[in-house]
Amino acid sequence: MYNPKSLKAEEFIDHQEILDTLAYADANKDNVQLIDAILARAALRKGLSHREASVLLACEIPEKIEQLYALAEQIKKDFYGSRIVMFAPLYLSNYCVNGCVYCPYHAKNKHIARKKLSQEDIVREVTALQDMGHKRLALETGEDPVNCPIEYVLESIKTIYGIKHKNGAIRRVNVNIAATTVENYRKLKEAGIGTYILFQETYHKESYEKLHPTGPKHNYSYHTEAMDRAMEGGIDDVGLGVLFGLELYRYELAGLLMHAEHLEAVHGVGPHTISVPRIKHADDIDPSAFDNGIDDDTFAKITACIRVAVPYTGMIISTRESKAVRERLLHLGISQISGASRTSVGGYAEPEPEDERSEQFDVSDNRTLDEVVNWLMRMGYVPSFCTACYREGRTGDRFMSLCKSGQIQNCCQPNALMTLKEYLEDYASADTRAVGEALIQSELAHIPSEKVRAIVTERLAKIEQGQRDFRF
Ligand code: SF4
Ligand code: SF4
Repeated sequence: MYNPKSLKAEEFIDHQEILDTLAYADANKDNVQLIDAILARAALRKGLSHREASVLLACEIPEKIEQLYALAEQIKKDFYGSRIVMFAPLYLSNYCVNGCVYCPYHAKNKHIARKKLSQEDIVREVTALQDMGHKRLALETGEDPVNCPIEYVLESIKTIYGIKHKNGAIRRVNVNIAATTVENYRKLKEAGIGTYILFQETYHKESYEKLHPTGPKHNYSYHTEAMDRAMEGGIDDVGLGVLFGLELYRYELAGLLMHAEHLEAVHGVGPHTISVPRIKHADDIDPSAFDNGIDDDTFAKITACIRVAVPYTGMIISTRESKAVRERLLHLGISQISGASRTSVGGYAEPEPEDERSEQFDVSDNRTLDEVVNWLMRMGYVPSFCTACYREGRTGDRFMSLCKSGQIQNCCQPNALMTLKEYLEDYASADTRAVGEALIQSELAHIPSEKVRAIVTERLAKIEQGQRDFRF
């Protein structure tokens, strides 16, 4: 029985409710009157239900899809301005006891190199990331209680926060590790993590069980209820995601939005971020072996639907996607991207030897961080290295209420400019620096408050003189 307030996975992600939603969407995909009403509701910027968003996703009327895209772009601008938050993944360990059929780290893969970073390795890797200019990391590990216990993850987080190289610092560590206990989530919270990220992979229980034939991840309920345990453990920023290509994308969108509605209904705060990865080629993984792959147009439509359905939720796209795809999706709702990523265990400080490769998947965007920053700025975006909210205690419902009232804008824009300025001073090439300086000057004019503008101007000058880490 569908119940968004239930703590049971099969009740808040109710299979029959998803089937009914898809039938409703099919029945109404040409219902122009209803589609117009849904678009009008989305324009109020208060979000949409999973049923409403599913109708938009099913609709194939070109004119309505164009309206959806225009609205997604406008909502993106209203909530995020031209800012794009930058981050990098850091793989700590690829030991894994699970059998996920789409991931080369599955336990039966005996030929991929298995690695785990020592604390000394972490210092080297993080120093290299700091030297590129990164301030925000997403930690990734496989699931292995022996080779990668929670104590190791906690120690690694402590190490990372402690590394200060030149003007570098990692100011926010987000964590993407396997579903775990309330007690472990509490420990992660105490270690000072930003967002806890866990991809659902697929919301379709039967497929989920087939795709995860062995290991603790096989347990659909334990995995799906992880965010509730994380929140019980005190983590109030959680990141959802599905791996598009595993199941029918329309099923996944409905499930994803039902999960967001569940978190809002139970905890009073929806997901902090949503990631939209697609299956990619990897060591022993062939994406064409999965029937439900989606093309770039469908991917764009999904992104736009998520953007209008949950306007306050950040959306993340990784270097799995090409420059061209990333460029298209930035318009439609993406607010965070990774740059210069390595999806191997190690590889930032020095490239992995050919015979010891450990990537989780192929990267389609191989540019340096400087190239990505330059590219973003030339398109008019402001790359932001801001991590202020978490450090100022603006998380969970406090963060969401600032988002919903629009007040967060008073922080984001100044913080973006100041952190970009730091980047330009410390890490950028001459060309990137020139483009960035001009951008900062033109963006300064968009800060509405004269007082804030004056403070930012003063702080920008102080950054030039060597001071760092200003924030609103
Ligand atoms: S997806 Fe995660 S849990 Fe599954 S095999 Fe890969 S690393 Fe292990
Ligand atoms: S001020 Fe907060 S919401 Fe805005 S970019 Fe910084 S961390 Fe994100």
